[in-house]
Amino acid sequence: MDKFLVYGNPIAQSKSPAIHQMFATQTEQAIHYEKCLSTKESFVNDVNEFILAGGKGANVTAPFKEQAMAMCDQLTERAKAAGAVNTLVFSAGQIKGDNTDGIGLVNDLISQKVEISNKKVLLMGAGGAARGVILPLLAQNPSQLILVNRTMAKAVTLAKCFDSPNLQVISFADTENHAFDLIINATSASLSAALPALSTNAITAKTVCYDMVYGKQLSPFLLWCQQQGAKQVIDGLGMLINQAAESYFLWRKVKPDCETPLNTLRAELTAAPSKGKS
Ligand code: NDP
Repeated sequence: MDKFLVYGNPIAQSKSPAIHQMFATQTEQAIHYEKCLSTKESFVNDVNEFILAGGKGANVTAPFKEQAMAMCDQLTERAKAAGAVNTLVFSAGQIKGDNTDGIGLVNDLISQKVEISNKKVLLMGAGGAARGVILPLLAQNPSQLILVNRTMAKAVTLAKCFDSPNLQVISFADTENHAFDLIINATSASLSAALPALSTNAITAKTVCYDMVYGKQLSPFLLWCQQQGAKQVIDGLGMLINQAAESYFLWRKVKPDCETPLNTLRAELTAAPSKGKS
């Protein structure tokens, strides 16, 4: 049976094994998928040992996405643009690296019927998650993709990595002069129950608000957006499942359906007291 792993630290909270087993059942394939708690010191060795043991591929989550990238013989354009790898494919003695986070976000938005093309989009954050979604978002041809980050210099540096006239950076103070069709929170503010300093002017009755964080309840950011009268609020559970579906496709050449796993995990999340991410 083909073997797969997800590396992370911490990793106990990972839903990836459950998601991939659901994909395997749905596509009538047999795979073995486990969690691996790694360390910065042991990560490279852990991956090489898994390859020697016959591993076919792996997912990589924090804090190993950059280390994983450095190990790859080949990288996809979206992995290069993201500067990080969340999917490894082991084949013919080579390690191929991809990043499926951005396409996971875009596919989740598409499945939730959120339009990106010709829309004015605000992306909050300038960390790894924000960087990973910029190229896939630009590929959807928004009229504007505007970056905002608490530390503005990081957003300016990030925007320089992408050669696009549709990409610009503003400060949080400037958000009072804009209204957006879509606002994506790629900050980790919700994990500490903090709110980004977004102006209420940014949200209208036409605005869709997305938080990459997910949990049992709506995040503080999505609750605040609801209070401002946003049209729709969406959390990051669908992004998690869609990025996994893209990894599964890279490994198994078959695209699983995300709706049933999303409903299953949503029900589990609603019933359980805990919070988490990939
Ligand atoms: P990083 O640590 O790389 O970046 C964190 C970002 O959040 C920075 O831009 C930082 O700003 C900003 N930030 C942190 N606290 C605050 C605050 N109180 N107010 C405003 N901005 C703040 O994290 P990642 O980019 O890797 O991850 C971001 C989030 O996305 C995480 O919550 C993660 O769980 C989630 N995620 C979800 C995925 C999914 O599949 N659903 C996939 C990947 C990530 P500054 O630069 O000023 O410090």
